[in-house]
Amino acid sequence: MIPALLSNYAPADLSFEKGEGMYLYGNDGRRYLDFAAGIAVSALGHAHPKLVGALTEQAKKVWHVSNLFRIPGQEELAKKLVAATFADAVYFCNSGAEANECGIKMVRKYFSTNGHPEKYRIIAFENSFHGRTLATIAAAGQEKLLAGFGPVVEGFDHVPVGDIEKVKAAITEETAAVLIEPVLGEGGIQVVEPAFLRALRKLCDEHGLLLMLDEIQTGMGRTGKLFAHEHAGITPDILTSAKALGGGFPVGACLAVEKVAKTMTVGSHGSTYGGNPLAMAVAGAVVDVMTEEGFLDHVVEMGNHLKQGLTGVVDRHPDILEEIRGIGLHLGLKCKVENTLVATKLLEHGVLTAKGGDNVVRLLPPLIVEDAQISEFIAVLDDVCTELENG
Ligand SMILES: *Cc1c(COP(=O)(O)O)cnc(C)c1O
Repeated sequence: MIPALLSNYAPADLSFEKGEGMYLYGNDGRRYLDFAAGIAVSALGHAHPKLVGALTEQAKKVWHVSNLFRIPGQEELAKKLVAATFADAVYFCNSGAEANECGIKMVRKYFSTNGHPEKYRIIAFENSFHGRTLATIAAAGQEKLLAGFGPVVEGFDHVPVGDIEKVKAAITEETAAVLIEPVLGEGGIQVVEPAFLRALRKLCDEHGLLLMLDEIQTGMGRTGKLFAHEHAGITPDILTSAKALGGGFPVGACLAVEKVAKTMTVGSHGSTYGGNPLAMAVAGAVVDVMTEEGFLDHVVEMGNHLKQGLTGVVDRHPDILEEIRGIGLHLGLKCKVENTLVATKLLEHGVLTAKGGDNVVRLLPPLIVEDAQISEFIAVLDDVCTELENG
């Protein structure tokens, strides 16, 4: 007999009964400091009063009607996102991978509508992550994601991050777009240089290509800007958001400029649940909180404090930790010992983190983190490193 639940995950033997702000309360009776935020999702912490209020208010009214009818929450949230970003229009879905699927379809539809159906290929980057659907594993191109799921969806070419000449060389008559994460999150918080993002924007403009940014992990305040590309002073043509957008309620969004959005005509794409009233109520509240005066300044400030603290820990424990990477509160600890060891020890000490590629432990605290929890985290990490040194 196999377990009734599919065995595609290997969760820690721990569950939670409730959460409050920066903390989760385990079924083992312990309190945990949350520096994982459910993989950069719970950006406003747990049980945020505004989100609980938005969800319960909507829950008493109407949950679901489908897109056969107008959903005022979608129109309101789309307006808010358009006002806060480069975008002219927004499509709502339920997850990150779905947002990327929409973005990839938009790329193809844009060129097909404009008389160039032969332009469909997308240049993407090695070590990326874009989700687990057939198209998004092809977009990432990593063998560990693709193995066993062939044939691979056609149309993606991969080059290393940072090498603009290789990107140029990969452009053909069939190239339609460039797709990149401003920080490769799952890849181990590999920050893409702003200069490289600017070079990509320029290259796209010169060759008539669309620039699509996957900001599913970097977006919604995580790096100290609403979206990470703002650090580079560029704008994309298509951007995908999810994770923190719903603060824990499943929702995704695909944002686009007018020339692209207008090619997605009636019937071209859709989702039964996409943008349902519950999701819109919660995501609307998330956007309201994040666009309040001072919210992003707080992320920048806390990110600086955390980074300063971490620099001290890395200096004190050079045999355990190698370096800190990241922007804002999207940070990674590159480990010299196995990252699993560090993450497991942190968990034993009551701190949740998320492993990433390249032997990194990701630190993704809710953006509402305060100095007290940063100090708490730094003290625990120091202890963990000392224990690991003493074998
Ligand atoms: C998490 C993530 C996705 C996939 O989102 P899902 O909601 O799991 O489908 C895609 N791209 C990036 C950059 C992500 O971090």
